[in-house]
Amino acid sequence: ATQSISAGPTGRVVVVTGAARGIGRAIAERFVADGDRVATIYRGGDLPKGVEAYVADVTDSAAVDAAFAAIEKDMGPVEVLVANAGVTKDQLLMRMSDEEFESVVDVNLTGTFRCVRRASKGMIRARKGRIVLLGSIVGLSGGPGQVNYSSSKSALVGMVRSITRELGARGITANVVAPGYVETDMTAALSEDVRGHYLKTIPAGRFATPDEVAAVVSFVASDAAGYVSGAVIPVDGGLGMG
Ligand code: NAD
Repeated sequence: ATQSISAGPTGRVVVVTGAARGIGRAIAERFVADGDRVATIYRGGDLPKGVEAYVADVTDSAAVDAAFAAIEKDMGPVEVLVANAGVTKDQLLMRMSDEEFESVVDVNLTGTFRCVRRASKGMIRARKGRIVLLGSIVGLSGGPGQVNYSSSKSALVGMVRSITRELGARGITANVVAPGYVETDMTAALSEDVRGHYLKTIPAGRFATPDEVAAVVSFVASDAAGYVSGAVIPVDGGLGMG
């Protein structure tokens, strides 16, 4: 069971992209447990209880805009955006095709931009908002075979800092939550060898649970975190230190 860190007001409209599984699912469940009204923009599939479904691919600008318009009409102004949808397509640098590079950037970076651009409209009008982007420790430290993924994730740091400079005076914060390795479908694909190697390098000695990432997202999205903006908050068991 989840437990609230912040005693902020509940009942906010929260949009979490890609909430059907993994970290996004845990984040959506957390906001529902905190008493918020949660919608997901996603590609389909089974959702946690209490999450409203809006089908769209974040690579499609018109579909993203239409999904936000529908959410605003059905639920009201969006106060919190959690841009979680993301993909990996690992390949060695010298073998990586344009398609392998650009398709990852199109979801993780441009897809995030499309959601942020549309969500910010209502936040600017309301002079209030919380934007939380799912980065990765790989965006800070890099990863072999992940030039596409790490480039897409480190670019989110520049994005939240520009948003903070542009919209900070309007009651809007933007931050990156950067997980290390989390127990999800994304990491279930790792070989035992690779997993063992990572486990040796993580001071916590284990991968994170999706709930441990959701708890930090919940705090950054709370009223209590109003003076945290343009920050990168690792949730990595100490992996990225130094
Ligand atoms: P996951 O693959 O389990 O879930 C990703 C979700 O994004 C899925 O529901 C998928 O449908 C959705 N998605 C992908 N492309 C989409 C698109 N074009 N349009 C709409 N939705 C789309 O991954 P996860 O492990 O839960 O990761 C969630 C986020 O956290 C990602 O941004 C990922 O990069 C990041 N992250 C994960 C880890 C990890 O160890 N799992 C570590 C660091 C960062």
